[in-house]
Amino acid sequence: MSEDKSKYLIDGIQGKWEVVIGLEVHAQVSSKSKLFSGSSTTFGGDPNTQVSLVDSAFPGMLPVINEYCIEQAVKTGLGINAQINSYSVFDRKNYFYADLPQGYQISQFKNPIVGEGEITLDLKTGTKNIGIERLHLEQDAGKSIHDLDPSNTFVDLNRSGIALMEIVSKPDLRSPDEVNAYVKKLRSIMRYLGTCDGNMQEGSLRADVNVSVRKEGDKKLGTRCEIKNVNSIKFMQMAIDHEARRQVELIESGESIVQETRLFDTKKNETRSMRSKEDAHDYRYFPDPDLLPLNLDKNLIEKIKKNLPELPDQKKERFIKDYSLSTYEANVLVSEKEVAAFFEEVIKTADKKLATNWIIGDLFASLNEKNISISESPIKAKEMVSLINSISSGLISGRAAKEVFEVMKDTGANPVKIIEEKGLKQKSDPKELEALIDKILEENKDKVSQYKSGKDKLFGFFVGQAMKVSGGTANPQLVNDILKNKLK
Ligand code: ADP
Ligand code: MG
Repeated sequence: MSEDKSKYLIDGIQGKWEVVIGLEVHAQVSSKSKLFSGSSTTFGGDPNTQVSLVDSAFPGMLPVINEYCIEQAVKTGLGINAQINSYSVFDRKNYFYADLPQGYQISQFKNPIVGEGEITLDLKTGTKNIGIERLHLEQDAGKSIHDLDPSNTFVDLNRSGIALMEIVSKPDLRSPDEVNAYVKKLRSIMRYLGTCDGNMQEGSLRADVNVSVRKEGDKKLGTRCEIKNVNSIKFMQMAIDHEARRQVELIESGESIVQETRLFDTKKNETRSMRSKEDAHDYRYFPDPDLLPLNLDKNLIEKIKKNLPELPDQKKERFIKDYSLSTYEANVLVSEKEVAAFFEEVIKTADKKLATNWIIGDLFASLNEKNISISESPIKAKEMVSLINSISSGLISGRAAKEVFEVMKDTGANPVKIIEEKGLKQKSDPKELEALIDKILEENKDKVSQYKSGKDKLFGFFVGQAMKVSGGTANPQLVNDILKNKLK
C-alpha cells in the first residue's frame, strides 16, 4: 500500500478523514503603554497597579490611540506580506464579563487595519503557504482569578486595555505539525520585527483553534468547533487531535457537529463544550463613537516598509546563497534572530562548515539540555570561534574538541586554556608518532601479519590503538599516513 505518510489523516470506520484547522492568534503588541491609555504593560506587576481611569472604564473617560501600537500592527502586516488598509475603524464588541468593566471590547470588525496576507511554512515535505485572512487591533480584557479564595473571584485589570493583534488564518492548516510550524514561523517573524515577544508562558501569544473534519477528498468544509485560548503549541496540537477524533466519532455514529466554543482541559486531555458559538450579530458591533476612523498616511506606511529588518525568509535565502548551507541548516539557523547573529559572528573568523555543525549539533544540544536560549549560553561567539579554530589549525583533534566542549558548556571557559590544562594538544610531531606506532606494531605482530595477508579491516584497529595510547591526542591524519607507509 502506498500511503502518503506526510499526510495527517484520521482512520475512521467509514474511511479516512482530513482535518481542517484555522487559527486566530492573539499576539500582544510589544509596547510600553496600552492601546488607548498611558498605563504600563510590564508583565508581573502587583494586581491593579497598572490601571488608568480609561482601563477601568470610568464614565466619561476617552480613549486616545497609541500611535506606536498602530505602527507595530502595520509592521507585522508587512512582515506577513499583507495588504495594509489605509482606512480602518475601531468598533465596540459588546459583551458582559466581570473582567471587562467597559461592557465592550474595542476591536476592529468590518475594516481591520491589515487585510489578506501569507506565511510560508518550511515543512519536512517542502514549503507550504498559509493564507492570512486579516490582522486587527483590539484591547485585551482583565483577568479573573478564581483560585485565590474558595468563595470569591478577584479581578486584576493590569492587562485590561493592552494592545493585541488578532491574526486570523484561512482554514489552510491540515495537521498538528503544520500548526506547530505556523505558530513558530509567525512568532519568529514578529520577534524579528520586535512587534511581539511571543512569550507564551506570559500569555503574550495564545490562540483560538478552529477544527473541522471532512472525508478525504471532499471539497466542502465541515462544521467547525472553536477551542478557546490555548497558550502552548503542545496543547494546541493535543487539542486538535482530540477534537478531530471526537468529531469523527460523532459523525460516524450518525450525529452532526454543532458549531460551538469549547475549551481544552489539559489535565483530562479532552475538549469540553463552553457555549454555543456566538455570531457577530450577538455582539452588536458598532463603530466606537469615541474614536475617529483611522486614516493611515501613505508616507508612514512607506517609511515603515523601508525600515523593515531582514526577515527569516530573506535571511534563509541569503544564508543558502552566501554560505552554501542546506535548506535544513539555514532554516534552523534563522529560526531565531539571536541564533542567526551568533552564527554570523562566529563565521567572521572561523570555518563555516565546522561552525554550522558545532552550532546546530553540540551547542543546540547543550542549550536544549539546560533549557536556555542562545543569549543565556555560557559559550559566547568568541569562545566558539576559538574552539573551531583550534580544530582547523590542527591544535586539537575533533575527538579532543568534544572533550573541551564538555567543559565549555558549563563554564564558558576559554578553550585554549582547557586544552592546556587537560593536555589535549594534538601530537603532530611525526617522529613522536612514529615511535608510538612502532611500539604498537611490535606488540601486535600477529595482527600485522594478518593484515598483510589481506585482512584490511585491521587498519582501523591500528588507528584505534594509536588514538588510545595517545589519549586521543594523536593527529589522526598523520597516524593514517604513517601506518599506511609502515604496513605497505
Ligand atoms: P469567529 O470570530 O467567528 O471565530 P473568525 O473569522 O474570526 O470568526 O475566525 C474564523 C476562523 O476559523 C479562521 O481562522 C478560519 O480559518 C477558521 N475556519 C473557518 N471555517 C473553518 C472550518 N470549516 N474548519 C476549520 N476552521 C475554519
Ligand atoms: Mg473566533
